[in-house]
Amino acid sequence: MRLTYRCFDLQLTHTFTIARSSKDVEPCVIVEIQHDGIVGYGEAAPSERYGETPQTVVSFLRNVKLDRFSDPFQVEEILSYIDSIAPENTSAKASIDIALHDWIGKKLGVPLWKLWGLDKDKAPLTSFTIGIDTLQVIEQKVREAAPYPILKIKVGVPNDEQIVTTIRNLTDKVLRVDANEGWKSKEQARDKILWLEERGVEFVEQPLPASDLEGTAWLRKHIHIPIMADENVTRLSDLQRLHGAYDGINIKLMKCTGLREAIKMIHTARALNMKIMLGCMIESSVAISAAAQLSPLVDYADLDGNILTTNDPFSGVEVVEGKLILNDYPGLGVSERMLGFQH
Ligand code: MG
Repeated sequence: MRLTYRCFDLQLTHTFTIARSSKDVEPCVIVEIQHDGIVGYGEAAPSERYGETPQTVVSFLRNVKLDRFSDPFQVEEILSYIDSIAPENTSAKASIDIALHDWIGKKLGVPLWKLWGLDKDKAPLTSFTIGIDTLQVIEQKVREAAPYPILKIKVGVPNDEQIVTTIRNLTDKVLRVDANEGWKSKEQARDKILWLEERGVEFVEQPLPASDLEGTAWLRKHIHIPIMADENVTRLSDLQRLHGAYDGINIKLMKCTGLREAIKMIHTARALNMKIMLGCMIESSVAISAAAQLSPLVDYADLDGNILTTNDPFSGVEVVEGKLILNDYPGLGVSERMLGFQH
């Protein structure tokens, strides 16, 4: 098995601002695992929130030695080894997991959704994210989001109410709200959410800092719409701790080390009677298509990271009027589309 990787800068259509950061470019690392004449693609979209950068991903991948394994079908063994190399580094680990799964699907000639026995017609609608911006640009973004029936609004700034009012005045679409840990006390979060409930918001994501689980458990008793954990949940081992404080979890391949662990999290969350959302970072169609393969299993999808960019080097899952459309190509169903893309 041969592992190669390259860094790529995803250019954002609009400056992407959330409660803690603002960006025009988001770097990712595209990974290839070659074996037996087949290339499996993977991707790491490192997030500084979880201590990763393109440099940490490359350093991690440099230490990965796949020659001790005979082929990618040994995925359980390989991923246990990958996880043992170093703690954290979850997006770097996810890149290997995704590439192995793409390879397996291609080798068997089936898309992953089919390999897992899923019905692609059950893929949910994805929301489209409206980042924090001036009210004028937010109005423009809402107009650009015309094809998407669900909007996810980033809040967690002093003028949240103005942002939501501006959007609500333009559309009666389903609105979801993500505070990205931006509200600083449980009382403030309660007041904000009670106000949002009156505007018909469906649910709120990560209202309080991940460190304030006790405050979140209190908050849940004082509001009426679901609260979803994002920054509070990375891997399978977090779920039990969150049960009771949150109604559901936002699973992202880049936080949880990839598809294999995401599947375990989905089934565990179901057993705990928690809602499941499948989310993403700013990612190319490689990682988005990987997550989309699992989407028939979840309640909510927020897989728009590739749509927010202008130079996605791959094509794969498509979105038509908000619905995720999985194709019948093997593996992730992705192909490289940019001419002159450097290996
Ligand atoms: Mg979030």
